[in-house]
Amino acid sequence: MLQCGNWTLEGKSSSAVATYIRIKELDLIFDLGRCPMRFIGTNHVFISHFHLDHYFGLPIYISQRWLADMPPGNIFVPSNGLKQLHNILNKISMLDGGRNWGYHLTPVDVGRSITFRKNLVAHILPGNHSVPSVSYLICEIRKKLKPEYHNLSDREIVALKHAGVEITNEVQLPLVTYFGDTRGISVDAHPLLKRCQLLICECTFITPDHRERAKKTKHLHLEMIPALLEQFESEHIVLNHFSRRYTPELIRHEVYKQLSTSDHQRVKLFL
Ligand SMILES: [Zn+2]
Ligand SMILES: [Zn+2]
Repeated sequence: MLQCGNWTLEGKSSSAVATYIRIKELDLIFDLGRCPMRFIGTNHVFISHFHLDHYFGLPIYISQRWLADMPPGNIFVPSNGLKQLHNILNKISMLDGGRNWGYHLTPVDVGRSITFRKNLVAHILPGNHSVPSVSYLICEIRKKLKPEYHNLSDREIVALKHAGVEITNEVQLPLVTYFGDTRGISVDAHPLLKRCQLLICECTFITPDHRERAKKTKHLHLEMIPALLEQFESEHIVLNHFSRRYTPELIRHEVYKQLSTSDHQRVKLFL
């Protein structure tokens, strides 16, 4: 468990083993490499790509909700793998006593935006990985009074509302970004990206002898992180998806050695 301001991150993330991160306050899960029972009641699941350690928990999530008579969760998946995922899930459910699990998959494509709760929208951003992969930027939708009405009294505003005048604009507040597995992402991928309050960023490899491996497998190396973070104004940054070759002690030591001291405060590790 990791506390970042108002958000609690729960789960685990280890490269090639499993990545699953829940933010309960937002009712969402990023990737589902395994599915702990306490995640079953969370209603939104965002899958970044189809490597097994990022989606292997889906059959458990789906079947447990079905067994508990809960409505199907909203599962968002890259569109390229939608058909195969349907096939796999249907085959598993057939093997599991021929039960007809109700489930709901929504395909996502880079460039699209999906409103998934009354006040939350997910922007689908590109990943750069060995298989098609996406990143997610979650924004809160807020109503803001139009500038021309700023000087009005409460009474005048109520009167305008009753008269049917549209007195507010919709604005978006960038909350959380989740990079799936990726070799990098351009901060220009979305105008709100660099201002997201919490950035969850992979950092698979950390030692100099793994530079080539990071390049070949299309992952971020720790040496790339300081320049990347420089572009983000985020108050909280969480590094995850470290290779299981490294011990937690080595990861802590290497990460904080590489980062500038000004970043020490805002960077946390999800191990
Ligand atoms: Zn991975
Ligand atoms: Zn991967």
